[in-house]
Amino acid sequence: MVKFERLALVGLGLIGSSIALGAKQHGLVGEIVGTARTEATRAKALELGLVDRCAGSAQEAVQGADLVILCVPVGAIGSVGAEIGPHLKPGCILSDVGSVKGSVIKDLSPCLPDGVHLVPGHPIAGTEDSGPESGFAELFHDRWQILTPPPHTDKNAVERMTAFWETLGSDVAVMEADRHDQVLAITSHLPHLIAYTIVGTAVDLGDDIKAEVIQYSASGFRDFTRIAASDPVMWRDVFLKNKTAVLDILQRFTEDLTALQRAIRRGEGETLHQHFTDTRAIRRGVIDAGQEVPPAPPKTEG
Ligand code: NAP
Repeated sequence: MVKFERLALVGLGLIGSSIALGAKQHGLVGEIVGTARTEATRAKALELGLVDRCAGSAQEAVQGADLVILCVPVGAIGSVGAEIGPHLKPGCILSDVGSVKGSVIKDLSPCLPDGVHLVPGHPIAGTEDSGPESGFAELFHDRWQILTPPPHTDKNAVERMTAFWETLGSDVAVMEADRHDQVLAITSHLPHLIAYTIVGTAVDLGDDIKAEVIQYSASGFRDFTRIAASDPVMWRDVFLKNKTAVLDILQRFTEDLTALQRAIRRGEGETLHQHFTDTRAIRRGVIDAGQEVPPAPPKTEG
């Protein structure tokens, strides 16, 4: 079952710690070496038994590894790639879990020595929690893992990463990076932007009404607050790195919102009713595609 002798994880937050727990649980790797930016996270990862050993730097962590997965915010990928590039073992697979894929390929490609295989990936799985204590091995169960290998990537490397993620419980899809970024702009990035906006609007309300907004939040607002509690650094980087696709979809969204705004102002009930009927069908499609999953298990299950 061991598919890799040594896995190096650069970044030990929600995703890095969940990979570590899953890989250990399934005996996928011989040894896990981890590193993070701060000593506090490295010490916590050792204390939690996420890794077999911690290295003081990314370049030290990747030495001798046959699989390296970067689990850092996408804005940090370029600098980490430049640091580790010269230390990657020939034949090793370099992967990541970033939520944007075009920028990862652009940032990592110049850092790749000959004989290192780049197989970027994005697990469509997560919670609003961060840090090494937030991970759990089941995070990836029945969730998509999208791999975006650049053209001409070694087939064997892609197959090995597919097997790795399938063993962690994921369904694996291979997609072109730009396509991934367009799809995720609408399915994930725009919804997060909307949540950040709505919650921000509530923050700006007067104190008297704000208290009632929180009290009666179960009517819809509560779900937005969960999404808007997601990590600020991660999401800042996502919007900056997927700028083109997000601005494109935001333009379309704004036009559609304006059309609904006009229908409300003009009292066009039939327009509103038709629109809400059409969107109901999408909900059915989401359920039929098995994408309505129970909430993530509590952290203690990790
Ligand atoms: P997280 O919990 O905040 O963890 C980030 C980790 O990266 C921390 O261990 C941090 O170290 C480390 N780090 C940050 N900058 C670094 C650097 N320059 N060098 C070395 N380590 C560095 O974040 P996460 O939720 O696991 O997200 C990690 C990646 O997964 C992001 O690219 C994100 O887009 C992607 N992703 C996230 C989700 C989600 O729902 N959270 C889902 C899918 C994909 P310290 O702790 O020492 O600061």
